[in-house]
Amino acid sequence: MTDPSALVAAAKPAVFWTDRGDAPTPAAPLHGSSSADLCIVGGGFTGLWAALQALDDNPGRRVVVLEAAVCGSGASSRNGGFCDPSLTHGFLNGLMHWPDEIHTLERLGRQNFNDMLESIERFAIQADVQRVDEVSFATSETQLQRQREEAETLSAHGVEHTLLDQVAAQAIARSPTYLGALTSPGIALVDPARLAWGLRRAVQSLGGVIYDQSRVTQIDADEERIRVGTEHGAIHAQRVIVATNAWAEPLRQMRRYIVPVYDHVLMTEPLSAEQMADVGWSGREGLADAGNQFHYYRLTADDRILWGGYDANYHWNNGMGAECEQRTESHELLARHFFETFPQLEGLRFSHRWAGPIGTTSKFAATFGTMHGERLAWVGGYTGLGVAASRFGAGVALDLIDGLATERSMIEMVRRRPMPFPPEPLRSLAIRTTRSALAKQDETGKTGPWLKLLDRIGVGFDS
Ligand SMILES: Cc1cc2nc3c(=O)[nH]c(=O)nc-3n(C[C@H](O)[C@H](O)[C@H](O)COP(=O)(O)OP(=O)(O)OC[C@H]3O[C@@H](n4cnc5c(N)ncnc54)[C@H](O)[C@@H]3O)c2cc1C
Repeated sequence: MTDPSALVAAAKPAVFWTDRGDAPTPAAPLHGSSSADLCIVGGGFTGLWAALQALDDNPGRRVVVLEAAVCGSGASSRNGGFCDPSLTHGFLNGLMHWPDEIHTLERLGRQNFNDMLESIERFAIQADVQRVDEVSFATSETQLQRQREEAETLSAHGVEHTLLDQVAAQAIARSPTYLGALTSPGIALVDPARLAWGLRRAVQSLGGVIYDQSRVTQIDADEERIRVGTEHGAIHAQRVIVATNAWAEPLRQMRRYIVPVYDHVLMTEPLSAEQMADVGWSGREGLADAGNQFHYYRLTADDRILWGGYDANYHWNNGMGAECEQRTESHELLARHFFETFPQLEGLRFSHRWAGPIGTTSKFAATFGTMHGERLAWVGGYTGLGVAASRFGAGVALDLIDGLATERSMIEMVRRRPMPFPPEPLRSLAIRTTRSALAKQDETGKTGPWLKLLDRIGVGFDS
């Protein structure tokens, strides 16, 4: 196998999706003070969907988005683009945490997914949406057994799926590692950066005002207004939504519930027609493997393979920043696993390597909070499945600040927060212990005492 470190060293340390020369010009930062009906902090998918829905539902509303860097430059333009209807990081995670509401959550998730695709079309957003199946491959006996059990649970709840044997799994794509597979219909793959940029354009077309390079440093409220302060200005708003996800700022409350975990990604060069034929994959499904620590992978419009996941890293005290984004060991591990999965692609090179922060909660799904007499709402923590769920989170946040008791704002997932993470040094210790327990479970198929304890108290940790 070509030396993974040479392959990684040759890849450009940049996000493929935003490195294609068509990024919009950043908006000017906020200088001075002004007022708004609604101020949104953070211009990722959550913030942009909140702005778009607020303006679409109520065209007269004065909506301002304050973004610390450039809209979409957080997790929203760095992800795999798997757009899954689930609001709960998959059916099984939802069933574990919200058994009484799981069917409502599934229905709301499907509705949100359909509405999202409808909005993408209505606002003519060119996000390269592909409706495909999702396929999770078992690559060990332990994973095969787990998939059989999962299939039984899915059948018991009437959730559509197909369990495939090795021959059928290999017909989807060819890898010597595939022993079987579990497929689910009805996801989409999107081009995440172009989705974020399209949303941004749509917000502006409806009269929303966006300020890039405007990090919010302080939020204070009096009885009349909420003051949202940046380094060079302030917005005095009637209502505020904080949509900073993994950054979990500027509210201390969010940091108790959301931790940033860095997820790493490699992008290959475009495959030739011959290489594509060697891999199969003519259905262009969204693929993953079935371990606790898993890879996710997909094709791009120009036949590259995006290959990410597996080695998610938490940094001390919710550490974030450029230094967390180029972790050579993680990229080399991904490169090695790539060629173990597709040895027939030996010689293929990686064009890009990057990482991004995943906001994670102890239940692997979004959590919500309100402050200042429900005039401010915050939301985040979709874990690795926020492309579609962020639109739902935005809608719920709007209901919360508008005092609307809707079906979605009344569900337990919204009303009850997950267990908070402990402060450091226990936070790092708990996350490290959980990660190694999950890796051990992947290896042995056995659930150790730490994971059993977490199961009992309704907590988990994943990418
Ligand atoms: C590598 C990777 C792969 C992923 N793959 C998938 C996938 O395939 N499918 C899927 O469903 N999900 C995936 N996710 C998760 C998904 O990308 C996120 O859940 C989703 O983008 C969250 O959107 P957001 O708007 O809440 O957060 P973000 O996009 O992170 O936006 C938060 C924004 O807030 C801004 N901000 C932070 N602090 C401040 C402040 N003080 N003031 C103003 N602005 C601030 C940030 O700059 C950022 O732009 C992945 C994530 C990563 C990192």
